[in-house]
Amino acid sequence: MEKTRSTPCPHAKQCGGCQLQHVPYAQQLAQKQRRVRELLGGFGPVLPILGMAEPTHYRNKVTAAFALDRNRKIVSGIYQPGSHAVVPVDSCLIEDETADAIIVDIRRMLPDFRIKVFDERSGTGWLRHVLVRRGFATGQALVVLVAVSPIFPLQKPFVQKLRELHPEVRSVVLNINDRVTPVVLGTREKVLYGEGAIEDILCGYRFRISPRSFYQINPVQTEKLYRTALDFAELTGAETVLDAYCGIGTIGITASGRAKQVIGVELNHDAVADAIVNARLNGIKNCWFTAGDAGEYMEQMARDGMRPDLVFLDPPRAGSDERFLSSLLRCAPKKVVYVSCDPETLARDLGTLTKGGYRVGKIQPVDMFPYTRHIECVCQLFKEGAK
Ligand code: SAH
Repeated sequence: MEKTRSTPCPHAKQCGGCQLQHVPYAQQLAQKQRRVRELLGGFGPVLPILGMAEPTHYRNKVTAAFALDRNRKIVSGIYQPGSHAVVPVDSCLIEDETADAIIVDIRRMLPDFRIKVFDERSGTGWLRHVLVRRGFATGQALVVLVAVSPIFPLQKPFVQKLRELHPEVRSVVLNINDRVTPVVLGTREKVLYGEGAIEDILCGYRFRISPRSFYQINPVQTEKLYRTALDFAELTGAETVLDAYCGIGTIGITASGRAKQVIGVELNHDAVADAIVNARLNGIKNCWFTAGDAGEYMEQMARDGMRPDLVFLDPPRAGSDERFLSSLLRCAPKKVVYVSCDPETLARDLGTLTKGGYRVGKIQPVDMFPYTRHIECVCQLFKEGAK
């Protein structure tokens, strides 16, 4: 039986992170299924959504904002939507419990290590956010302190104390963000302890993840997502595969054993560096990764007359763009597997691809984000008339 949450989260009203807070889980899945059918059913068959057996504490990445409340007491939690007020949250029903515990302990440690929280009103203080990422399969945790300057006098004893409390912390990174911006991480980083990254295991492969690289936040469902993408690809071992928007190379590496070669393209340089390490970490010799805009790369492929047999694409919420899709149509791969975290932009892009001579085989929704309104889908497309 799938569990449903009987008591809603006490922070729900102020936090706003879980839009489906009061909806029993089975009903959430039914709603998402309906939504995907409405948006995408016209393109091809929609398979029943893959839900979670235990849909709580699934988030492997937790970001907490640090601030002073009205009484100048240190609080940590989530920004209230559309405001800079921090809703104090010590434990969240969708976040990893170990990550939450690490954040609470860091907050308690601050006075002993003379760490002041950054105060937006006065522009004084130092610590702005703490980000924790945990590999569910390896247990390793990465802690990123986001602060306004690189000066941290008691860093050594701080790391020592944190490791005493949480031996699972494998690396501590100081990220400098001195700009007024909604983006949590700045561009400068200093490794205080460990490798500056952690490892996790997905679908039997090991992956190194550094602080600014994208990594799917629900690893239990990610395995289902990737296995679906791989099934839909129907690889025989002879194919040249393009993994577009590849992040740290997870999809391409997972597919590498069933393809002749895999080329990955990704905009974020840190993620590309991770992807290259990841291929080596798994003893894989048929994957290449390159940094750049996926559309520009696809255009280059079209210009050079290169024709991958299969293209995986997994763009951000905004979907793909005209440059990528029109070049994809020119390259005319026999098969395309589109992984999407927004069915609306997926519908728009499927419109372009189906007008350009592709036919949708099937669509598989996967519930990557229980209790939120977000929906992930995998879509299989064939080139009409291709053998
Ligand atoms: N397939 C990966 C990453 C998916 S997230 C995984 O499953 O983990 C989308 C990725 O697209 C992010 O890593 C982001 O950095 C990258 N990205 C965003 N815009 C891009 C662009 N124009 N060209 C290439 N990559 C882009």
